[in-house]
Amino acid sequence: MTDPVILWLREDLRFDDNPAMREAAASGAPVLCLYVLDDATAGDFAMGAAQRWWLHHSLCAFKEDLETRGGALILRRGKETEIVPALAKEIKASHVFWNRRYMKWQTDPDTEIKSALQDMGIKGISCNGRLLYEPWEIETKSGDPYKVYTPYWKSLQQKEGPRAALPRTDKLNAPPSLPSTDRLDDWNLLPRSPNWAEGFEPVWTPGEKGARARLRAWLDTDAASYDDCRNRPDQDRTSRLSPHLHFGEISPVVLWHSVSDAMEAGDIPKDQGTSFLSEIAWREFSYQLLYYHPTMRDQPLMEKFTDFEWDTDKKALNAWQRGRTGYPIVDAGMRQLWTEGWMHNRVRMIVGSFLVKDLLLDWRDGMRWFWDCLVDADPANNTASWQWIAGCGADAAPFFRIFNPTTQSEKFDPDGAYIRRYVPELRDLPTRFIHEPRKASTAILKDAGIVLGETYPDPIVDHSDRRKQALSRYEAIK
Ligand SMILES: Cc1cc2nc3c(=O)[nH]c(=O)nc-3n(C[C@H](O)[C@H](O)[C@H](O)COP(=O)(O)OP(=O)(O)OC[C@H]3O[C@@H](n4cnc5c(N)ncnc54)[C@H](O)[C@@H]3O)c2cc1C
Repeated sequence: MTDPVILWLREDLRFDDNPAMREAAASGAPVLCLYVLDDATAGDFAMGAAQRWWLHHSLCAFKEDLETRGGALILRRGKETEIVPALAKEIKASHVFWNRRYMKWQTDPDTEIKSALQDMGIKGISCNGRLLYEPWEIETKSGDPYKVYTPYWKSLQQKEGPRAALPRTDKLNAPPSLPSTDRLDDWNLLPRSPNWAEGFEPVWTPGEKGARARLRAWLDTDAASYDDCRNRPDQDRTSRLSPHLHFGEISPVVLWHSVSDAMEAGDIPKDQGTSFLSEIAWREFSYQLLYYHPTMRDQPLMEKFTDFEWDTDKKALNAWQRGRTGYPIVDAGMRQLWTEGWMHNRVRMIVGSFLVKDLLLDWRDGMRWFWDCLVDADPANNTASWQWIAGCGADAAPFFRIFNPTTQSEKFDPDGAYIRRYVPELRDLPTRFIHEPRKASTAILKDAGIVLGETYPDPIVDHSDRRKQALSRYEAIK
């Protein structure tokens, strides 16, 4: 094969265990790597601001690695349905390889591109590089997709296990002459004035090497007590691999085998490792849900919630977004999100429940804010998780089970270390008041340098009142 081939990279910026890349390399032809930034096709799901920061750095890291392997990366911005076939024609490619994506607004253009290529006599070859099992590979006995997680997880465990990880691709020879490429800097993915992503830099290393280093560090230190500590934001001992997984800088197959091997070797106790694997399975389950129920992207899976009466209080939404609700654990979470582009899972549940059941605001408002602010924003995980929190999704927490933000805070951040880290104006408050500053006397507040309503907000709603209102609105749609 002498005509070049195209490797169209999407959410798979890695050399390790990359099925489409292996196939492209195995063709023996010169390989041109392509990345397309297509905001128009994605519509509401165009990449959010935090992920644009990540993408910039991830593409830089990938390009550097690619060039040491003899490859070349072409960047193009615009509609992928136009760019991919046009480039294939321009360079007279024989094949275009890619790893599959699963959201309807992604699979529709993929199908269109495959057929446009076929019409030109060019083969479009797609592979699974994103999931342990494709959505249609795990089904109920009657052949339907699952809507409840526990049987899904059981069914996944009964399979033989994910395929073995593929070896790293070491060589990708670029064609001798290259088509034109955009300059990454011209895409303006990084925030400039102000540079609100300053807080991301000490926390994250986008790219495959960063993903590998994080996995190694987590396996060595925190994996063995994953289940014991995974709900403690103050301890911060989950893997933090979510943005790397989203951008495909590490594959779930590698993750699955790394943890399973460590369990086999006795380095991670079975219960702790299995708990982690079950979270990877939540990711798979979310993909299955969105694949079979694409309207979930903006419509509740449980139809009765279409009639739920949501508030539209912009001031309350703004206070939530800025971390100024007067509920310290909620504010800490929202400020962690703003500063680092990430939030601990337990706190995502607390702030999500607060938005929906205390502020009575639409879960889609929360989903959109997360979409813009999270470096790990993922269409399947974000959508399924918000619907779960709002009680309107598959296997959801029932709406009437309402988190009390204060008791959640006392339980999962007992010394207030997480709150102190992200809400520094409360740093000097004694622990017994850190979860509920309004209970402290004026003298104690004064000693801690706090004036409620000035240096830190009064609670914007009363939890027990709002709880009653939420339940009565739920009664109306039940
Ligand atoms: C309201 C809300 C919104 C969320 N939005 C996203 C999102 O946009 N992107 C995202 O990746 N996760 C999302 N999650 C799920 C979860 O919070 C994150 O995956 C997790 O906090 C990432 O941290 P980690 O990598 O340290 O997780 P770990 O605990 O180390 O778990 C390992 C991996 O398992 C997967 N995982 C863990 N928990 C879940 C879960 N509940 N659902 C699906 N997959 C899971 C993730 O890929 C994660 O990286 C959301 C959760 C909630 C409650």
